[in-house]
Amino acid sequence: MERENFIIAIDGFSSCGKSTVAKAIAKRLNFVFVDSGAMYRAVTLYFLRNRIDITDTEAIKTALANIHIDFIPNTDKTQILLNGEDISDEIRQMEVSEKVSEVSAIKEVRHAMVAQQQQLGARRDIVMDGRDIGTTVFPDADLKIFMTADPLVRANRRHAELVAKGEQVTLDEIIENLAHRDHIDSTREESPLRQAEDAIVLDNSNLTQDDQLDFVLEYFNERKK
Ligand code: C5P
Repeated sequence: MERENFIIAIDGFSSCGKSTVAKAIAKRLNFVFVDSGAMYRAVTLYFLRNRIDITDTEAIKTALANIHIDFIPNTDKTQILLNGEDISDEIRQMEVSEKVSEVSAIKEVRHAMVAQQQQLGARRDIVMDGRDIGTTVFPDADLKIFMTADPLVRANRRHAELVAKGEQVTLDEIIENLAHRDHIDSTREESPLRQAEDAIVLDNSNLTQDDQLDFVLEYFNERKK
């Protein structure tokens, strides 16, 4: 039976502005927005807090069984809950960013998250952003966007974002973190970051948020059911 809901997958490198575009589209089209990166960040925060040894498969399996992630849509921003606690801000801190790609490369972690993501998109119109949404989570997505941007533009954006939140971090640290994550994300064995063959590339180095929204909406209007 053919699926009736519409799925938009947005993948790409770290700090390309995927979530910003995804949120804007979800708002415009009244779709559910899921930030899959936030899920991997939540798992990483749990692992850090509970000192889970990422080489210990049994400990990882037990931890995953104890992790419950929820999204609470709000008017201004979606909250993410880890076992009932709002961790939306904490997961953006550098401490989490520095470990998240190692945690995300673990097979058991990926299987658990991909299964949850597939359930979230089972019956609803959804826009999900991440690294493997168009390749692994929803290979049959109705619209796939692969986002990229100049590395320095990306680092400057992320730096400004973190400084605005009061975090003490240098531009060099950000450049290094983005390169590190992109490398691990692209070279891991389980669902590596790569462009799906049928994805449309969106390089937003020199585009405004409105330009990006228009770009995606144009393709959506072409394909809508
Ligand atoms: O999107 P964001 O930068 O918040 O994602 C944090 C990290 O989570 C990424 O660097 C990547 O290691 C991991 N991730 C992933 N697969 C996804 C989404 C994020 O491996 N679908």
